Amino acid sequence: MPNPKRRHSSSRRGKRRAHDALTTQMMIRCQNCGAYSIPHRACKECGYYKGRQVVAVRTTAVEQE
Ligand SMILES: [Zn+2]
Repeated sequence: MPNPKRRHSSSRRGKRRAHDALTTQMMIRCQNCGAYSIPHRACKECGYYKGRQVVAVRTTAVEQE
């Protein structure tokens, strides 16, 4: 198996990892319930997208209609 001839210095490792930082996720307010959610995704709280229900939301309390 091929192996690296020399180990990389901690400086070189640090320079590589300088670009590894995670950025915060872009968040928008839900049009329906006002909760923060990810853009172009159905709302996690109410299951709404583009003004209509697209996903059934599991709730702890049983909803009666
Ligand atoms: Zn919502």
